[in-house]
Amino acid sequence: MHAPRLRFAPSPSGYLHIGGARTALFCWLLARKHDGRFLLRIEDSNADKSSLDSVQAILDGLRWLGIDWDEGPEVGGPYAPYFQSERRALYRQYVDQLMASGGAYKCTCSPDELAAKREAAKAAGKPPGYDRTCRDKTDSDHGADLPYVIRLKTPLDGETVVDDMIRGRVVFRNSEFSDPVIVRTNGDPLYNFVVVVDDVLMKISHVFRGDDHLANTPKQIHIYEALGFTPPRFAHMPLILGSDKKRLSKRHGATNVMAYDDDGYLPEAMVNFLARIGWAHGDMEVFTRDELLEAFSVAGIGKSAGVWNAEKLVWLNGTWITNMASDELARRIAPRLAAAGLPAQPDGALTARRIDTLKERAKTLQDLVVDGRFYWADADDVVFNEKAKKKFLKGATRPQLEAALAALTALDAWTEESIEGALAGVAEGLELKLGKVAQPLRVAVTGTKVSPGIHETLQALGRDKTLTRVAAAVGIARAAEEAAP
Ligand code: GLU
Repeated sequence: MHAPRLRFAPSPSGYLHIGGARTALFCWLLARKHDGRFLLRIEDSNADKSSLDSVQAILDGLRWLGIDWDEGPEVGGPYAPYFQSERRALYRQYVDQLMASGGAYKCTCSPDELAAKREAAKAAGKPPGYDRTCRDKTDSDHGADLPYVIRLKTPLDGETVVDDMIRGRVVFRNSEFSDPVIVRTNGDPLYNFVVVVDDVLMKISHVFRGDDHLANTPKQIHIYEALGFTPPRFAHMPLILGSDKKRLSKRHGATNVMAYDDDGYLPEAMVNFLARIGWAHGDMEVFTRDELLEAFSVAGIGKSAGVWNAEKLVWLNGTWITNMASDELARRIAPRLAAAGLPAQPDGALTARRIDTLKERAKTLQDLVVDGRFYWADADDVVFNEKAKKKFLKGATRPQLEAALAALTALDAWTEESIEGALAGVAEGLELKLGKVAQPLRVAVTGTKVSPGIHETLQALGRDKTLTRVAAAVGIARAAEEAAP
């Protein structure tokens, strides 16, 4: 493949879904890998099914995934995408050209007549396609001012071959097709026609799309031929199935790419994951963008459907989080902290240190926010698990809490080692196992029984928050003691 020109051509009738995102990614990878161009074309020629919100959602999704495009209707980037709704005059020119060359014709058959023909064909056991009544009529044969559609003259016999880069040779008998409508009575050109005109004008060399479009391809090839253009190469990608081998749908989890952003997935992990649906490179699973660019090839795209594996996505995301630099993760969680009503964290190094203690276990960015809430919240804002509070902050644990408070207060340096030494001293002095000291302290500072190791937790939490919370816990223990019968 040399300097290919590829495009992603979504219809803006919803969000960017998983299947579309994968198609876009594959096209983008091939364009970037082979010094080609990647274009974005919004297929909004059907105004009833398009919305600006959807356009925005698709752009947001592509930007989140880091899929950028190279050209647009205006000169100079950053480029707006192409919109089919802005290209009607161009389509008209090609319709006129086809009419002039005899490649297309007016059809004045009314919907009722067409329905009757279909019924008759069905009754006679014939294919239900249009019987080409108007194919050889001239203008004077048509009644004046009758509404008309424009139909393409398609070959009456022979075969149309799609030499698909993924599926191989797919042969269609031309007798299966009748002359399709390319322009409606209201003058709107239809989908297959505008796609061909656009792909020609945008000099698309390779059309990669989902194999739900395979049935359109021979029809589009007829349009290329009628217009006198050479068709591009085609590649139809197998659909994505859910784990139950049924077509991927909401039953299998969110199909909107941006829902994964909301849930705290990294775009790096999503790109990695999407690339591995229906494409493989040995048994390698984790790919950076550069590694994907290096390894990606059409030969690695499978013929059978890719399967969506939600556990793998979770695993990949966790792996990406663990491997990502903590200061980068700190930047990424900042808006999530704000959304959770938690204060901004002014000390970047401290935030990174805290993330160091959390990221091994975190599966999503949201886990960093939730599991680390005790770090991010103000000193006096501890959300207690009531059971843990009752069990560990009471009269019986007050001596450990008080001794720990004193020992920690006396520390000069606030390091994991100094904290470890202080707590070991407390345990020894009270003749307790370390756990008997650590667990009340953990509940005191985190509100829960689970956290990273106590020494690193206290170190990363910082002296001020630790001492404030342990002092408060002493108060809670005392109050519990006093309230006890
Ligand atoms: N607009 C079509 C869709 O969203 C894609 C057409 C194409 O890729 O040729 O399914």
